[in-house]
Amino acid sequence: MNSEQNKTIKKLLLISENKGISSEISTLLNDRYDILFADSIEAGTQQLEHNYSNISTILLDSMLAAEKGKDFMARVKEEPRFMFIPIILVASGIPMNEEIECLTQGALDIIVPPFHKKLIEQRIRNAVRLKDSASFYEIERMLRALPSNIYLKDADCRYIFATRDWCHMEHDNDPKWTIRGKTDIDIRKDTENALAAMEADKEILRTGKGTSYIIKVGTDDEAEFFEIIKEPVKDKNDRICGIVGLLNNVTEHERLRRRLKAAADTDGLTGLLNRRKIQSRIRKGLAVMKEKSGDRSLVMIDIDDFKRVNDTYGHNAGDMVLKGLAGILMDDELIGTEDFCAGRWGGEEFMLLLKSSGLDEAKNIAERIRIAFSSMDFGNIPSQTISLGVTKANPDDTVDSLCSRVDKALYKAKKSGKNKVEIIE
Ligand code: GH3
Ligand code: MG
Ligand code: MG
Repeated sequence: MNSEQNKTIKKLLLISENKGISSEISTLLNDRYDILFADSIEAGTQQLEHNYSNISTILLDSMLAAEKGKDFMARVKEEPRFMFIPIILVASGIPMNEEIECLTQGALDIIVPPFHKKLIEQRIRNAVRLKDSASFYEIERMLRALPSNIYLKDADCRYIFATRDWCHMEHDNDPKWTIRGKTDIDIRKDTENALAAMEADKEILRTGKGTSYIIKVGTDDEAEFFEIIKEPVKDKNDRICGIVGLLNNVTEHERLRRRLKAAADTDGLTGLLNRRKIQSRIRKGLAVMKEKSGDRSLVMIDIDDFKRVNDTYGHNAGDMVLKGLAGILMDDELIGTEDFCAGRWGGEEFMLLLKSSGLDEAKNIAERIRIAFSSMDFGNIPSQTISLGVTKANPDDTVDSLCSRVDKALYKAKKSGKNKVEIIE
């Protein structure tokens, strides 16, 4: 026996009242196995309780098994601590129907005299292997009870097995259907995600690096989210031979995360982006412009004499005016492009980032906003006006330099009489 087998086979528990059998087996096997002796079912049970994690096989005298061992065998078969330990009967002259009965009860094999060392050793090895493979099915059964989907794919991105069906799978509940050998493209209705899954798999097979990502399945209102964690599986020569994946439904968590993120990016009163977010959009806009060229313009807006609205009509009236202006800044038809984002810069100041507009177009948009706001009806509050500054980003700009320029343009509009648009190039 090589050292590998020595490691896997630990102790044998030999239960027999028959001293002759015990010493015969012991003589044959004690050079290879550490043998624990028990002369009754009770003693065997105690040994098992104390040493179950080290016992690889139970050798049980068939006479004892037939007389008093039925409950013991049933317990070994059922109890999770013991269920992976094989029982081999050692025959000591019971009728064949009793032997069959014992095998039915859970014994895996039966060794009959005359005992041969090599034969017994091989049968112990076989029994252990058989239980090991049985344990695979047990593990699979346990994994199937989890809400996760755990799956294995080969090096061609084909499923070997999965603990659960993909919920977006196509196979009309055909009982003969199997996932084995199928790719994501073969089985999934959400083709785009299936393609992305194949791409991720290929990347793992190429680089040997695991990955995790969240996918969205379904349309907005009913969308579900799944987190997928994938790792490469290696063979004993350290070559990547497949992928193991874990999939969890994280819909509730992801919806909450998205809601919190949206709330963190949004101004509570107006629903526009908040200052931090619009700053980050401006930063990204500048980076994209520098990388790929194209126009970026900025419009800064401030309500004229807004303090007076608050002072005269109250804070709620002021809020209504702020919301009115925000409504205009969300109206892509009025603005005339979908390529923009608007945010509340603070108080009664707003910022509009135009993502593909030059200075002329930005000025026209600013004019449209000015006119639209001045003709807004606020009920018992008279119509209000705004001043607007416009500038265009240049490749040397930072967020600060750009914002400071647009602020200057706005200041110019205020200085020159309000209710107007001023440009600084
Ligand atoms: P100017 O034309 O020079 O811009 O004058 P202004 O009165 O608009 O400017 P000022 O900076 O003096 O006043 C801004 C006012 O905006 C003061 C502040 O109370 C008010 N304000 C800021 N945030 C809010 C808000 O959330 N709701 C309301 N109702 N008022 C706000
Ligand atoms: Mg102001
Ligand atoms: Mg103002």
